[in-house]
Amino acid sequence: MKIEHNKVVQFHYRLREQGADTEIENSHSGEPVAYLQGHKNIIRGLEEAMLSREVGDVFTADIEAIYAYGNRVEGSEQRVPIKHLLVKKNSKLKKGMIVSIQTDQGERQATIIKTGKFNVDVDTNHPLAGKNLTFDVEVVDIRDATEEEIAHGHAHGIGGHQH
Ligand code: ZN
Repeated sequence: MKIEHNKVVQFHYRLREQGADTEIENSHSGEPVAYLQGHKNIIRGLEEAMLSREVGDVFTADIEAIYAYGNRVEGSEQRVPIKHLLVKKNSKLKKGMIVSIQTDQGERQATIIKTGKFNVDVDTNHPLAGKNLTFDVEVVDIRDATEEEIAHGHAHGIGGHQH
């Protein structure tokens, strides 16, 4: 079976910034990730690189920023009261730290650029925005999606949505 539209795929990956050895994410310590092909569950560049792969395939995909988390948007800095940050009490806030912020539109991630006594200045670009990425991928499983999964637009079960 090959990966195509409406297949549920499980895969493991290691994520690096292109040209760097430092690992940003690695799924191998847990369950593989599951997603539904063709429904934008994963970044566009990776979904395209997955097409026609088979179980056991191991490959490396170099993905430009615009096909990953997009370009950085200038003017995305803002001042946020520390009490709006979703961090553990008394955690030490530092420049470069990635934090979650409670906003009217829900939770979003941001990077601290400056800390103060009551406020922090953050950059609300996705931490991986503007970065060209390299994924080392191993395809673990491919199956047909259920009608329910297609209706929901995502995968259910291990590595997918649990509900
Ligand atoms: Zn669902």
